[in-house]
Amino acid sequence: MQMAAAHLSQIAKRQGNLTVMNASHRAAIPFLDLKAQQARIGPALRNRLDAVLAHGQYILGPEVAELEDRLAAFCGAKYCVSVSSGTDALQIAMMAEGIGLGDAVFLPAFTYTATAEVPLLLGATPVFVDVDPRTFQIDLAHLETRIADVKRGGVLKPRAVVGVDLFGQPADWPGLNAIAARENLFTLDDCAQSFGAALNGKRLGTAADATATSFFPSKPLGAYGDGGALFTQSAERAALYRSLRTHGEGTTRYEVMRIGMNGRLDTMQAAILLAKLDVFEAEIATRETIAGIYDAALADVLDIPARVPNSASAWAVYAILLRDTATRDAVQAALRAENIASAVYYPRPLHRQPAYASCHDGAALPASESISECIMALPIHPDLTVEQATRVAAAVRAALGA
Ligand SMILES: *Cc1c(COP(=O)(O)O)cnc(C)c1O
Repeated sequence: MQMAAAHLSQIAKRQGNLTVMNASHRAAIPFLDLKAQQARIGPALRNRLDAVLAHGQYILGPEVAELEDRLAAFCGAKYCVSVSSGTDALQIAMMAEGIGLGDAVFLPAFTYTATAEVPLLLGATPVFVDVDPRTFQIDLAHLETRIADVKRGGVLKPRAVVGVDLFGQPADWPGLNAIAARENLFTLDDCAQSFGAALNGKRLGTAADATATSFFPSKPLGAYGDGGALFTQSAERAALYRSLRTHGEGTTRYEVMRIGMNGRLDTMQAAILLAKLDVFEAEIATRETIAGIYDAALADVLDIPARVPNSASAWAVYAILLRDTATRDAVQAALRAENIASAVYYPRPLHRQPAYASCHDGAALPASESISECIMALPIHPDLTVEQATRVAAAVRAALGA
């Protein structure tokens, strides 16, 4: 009797464990988990916010300058000017160069909308360049073709190239800079997704004439609201950026030197970013671990992210390529059924967006188009556990029948 009871209780325990396992199997895996991050860094975060509430300097308070110094040191740039968003960082950088009507700004067709929106707002013309079908970064051979197209057209003046460091990996900056030097183009690094990434052992921030990043909450270094920053090695550019972010002000207040904008970073967001910067490197390391788990579990069934040579990714996005759109839809549906979030960056290249179609000259951009049909992003964030990543990979494999 006793033995039977013991046996029964063992079975019950095992069943209990199974129940627990099933429950955790269904638990939601979010794409981003800012609540978990907040729990992890809560005390530091609150100390920083309390300090701002105590001094009350909500605009350009001491945390803003402290953050700028720390960010510049982090990436080895001489100057950092914080701004209100990544989009405003791009805009201020282009305004400082006087980019406008009649100027051609070369940029990848496969990127976030802001990259093309800003030159258009300033009256310039975005010239879409295709991307590498495996690294998703701007294709240098096609950039050469597009510069030649514009020169032959004789209408627009080649003025700038925006290299986007897509998904956390760097664009080919040595290659971009060589072309830009020959063609006398301003180089702008749209590093919105890749602050913290490195190329040839050096963090991004000094690869171009100016580097713009974003602190949108889902970016590798995210605030709890909008924010951004500009980096440059040029004292003149840094001074212009500071003026432009405060209505074009001069050395004294209410002296308006140029047309600017309201483009400052909030002190509150600077305080949050200071708390987050303390754990940023550790967070990138965790993202790298997650990427390694996905790589190992999925490389035999799909195209895992191709790495840019001699680089370290900030892993904003872990993007896989599936056979076709139908397969992508099926995998996303299977993940959804398992309560696992996924996303598509980007379902359309920019030249296919209704707002931008009319400014496109019709050049073929086949890689940007085919990638958008079969790309898909898996959750990758610093609070994703090894168990969760393993579950995501298993669900993708199961969906593919592997
Ligand atoms: C997010 C993003 C931006 C814009 O940044 P915001 O802070 O949202 O304005 C610009 N370019 C790229 C490539 C981005 O991913």
